[in-house]
Amino acid sequence: MNIHEYQAKALLKSFSAPVSDGHMALNAREAEAAAKMLPGPLWVVKAQIHAGGRGKGHFKEERAGEAGGVRLARSVTEAREMANQMLGSTLVTKQTGEDGKQVQRVYIEDGADIERELYLSLLVDRATSRVAFVCSTEGGMDIEGVAAETPEKIHTIHVDPAAGYSAYVGRRIAAALDLDGDLLKQCVKLMGALYTAFVEKDMALLEINPLIVTRSGKLHVLDAKIGFDDNALYRHPDVVELRDLTEEDPKEIEASKYDLSYVALDGDIGCMVNGAGLAMSTMDIIKLYGAEPANFLDVGGGATEEKVAAAFKIITSDPKVKGILINIFGGIMKCDTIAEGVIAAVKEVGLSVPLVVRLEGTNVEKGKKIIAESGLDVIPADDLDDAAQKIVKAVKG
Ligand code: ADP
Ligand code: MG
Repeated sequence: MNIHEYQAKALLKSFSAPVSDGHMALNAREAEAAAKMLPGPLWVVKAQIHAGGRGKGHFKEERAGEAGGVRLARSVTEAREMANQMLGSTLVTKQTGEDGKQVQRVYIEDGADIERELYLSLLVDRATSRVAFVCSTEGGMDIEGVAAETPEKIHTIHVDPAAGYSAYVGRRIAAALDLDGDLLKQCVKLMGALYTAFVEKDMALLEINPLIVTRSGKLHVLDAKIGFDDNALYRHPDVVELRDLTEEDPKEIEASKYDLSYVALDGDIGCMVNGAGLAMSTMDIIKLYGAEPANFLDVGGGATEEKVAAAFKIITSDPKVKGILINIFGGIMKCDTIAEGVIAAVKEVGLSVPLVVRLEGTNVEKGKKIIAESGLDVIPADDLDDAAQKIVKAVKG
């Protein structure tokens, strides 16, 4: 689960990390009030969407002007006008894809006096099973470019989970970021606060780009992106409250209600599979025969008829889907349960695209019989290979 920049900053502030003062606004009037609460003379109006690269992004609508999703204002009136242009407009950045994202909230923040822009992130490094600090003196711009062209400028510093964070770790980060004197001290303290926040809140990613050094010699968090580990959200009701459903794919929200593992993709063949491994191989084999999957969907081992029906409805609600492949290996889940679920769903929502069903395992004969006798226009398949070829043929002709 991701949150907005302004929420991430409030969270980091509660761990005593230095962030700018600011206020979130939902409309121009609120933006003006927010700007009035700040001293000036520089205000920053920042579009709040769950995607980075806002500064270098552009808006689709002419009314939003030429500039990107992070703008500097010299007066309260100007801040209000910028907020007015951004709100309701569609911001396209490197991370949003071509469709962009509609801006529904803006953050009005104190302008900072920037001397240097640094890069810092914390993540869980799977290779070492440790929390890692990734940092670079080349902050502010796109870090992917730095990683590709000058990888030696990116430093990774791991934290031993048994020892935890120590000043030694902080000093190594400071050295990598060229910070000395009082800035080194600030760095050791800030990194400790960030590490504590990361671990206590079960984050998966905490990215600060840029982390800045101000002209008055202060280390300061200027942008913040946080992603949480979904599996640990049950421990953090305060974090769950920060969820902004308008930023998420409605199909994925619906799927999470039924505890289905669903990820929307760009292809046109909808897949319903049980087991993540089988779902991955189903997607692979669809690609092998020249088509693209519209989604990843694992209904899980112990799916009920209701869950199967919900999954089917989610797949058919996607206008991109031109055909559906159901691939189930009945183990704990019986094939007849799947068959009943599919039939119930088709009766409710109808079937306007070709449907290939491959069943194998427990009660397979019973399951096949239920589908055959249902009168539905289903294309049966014998094995995975056969199923993939049949659905690709049905869609591509
Ligand atoms: P994004 O990464 O989505 O483009 P950032 O918050 O990193 O958004 O802002 C982009 C750039 O805008 C920063 O690198 C910084 O130069 C400038 N900026 C952002 N916030 C402020 C601020 N409060 N004061 C001054 N400049 C800012
Ligand atoms: Mg940034």
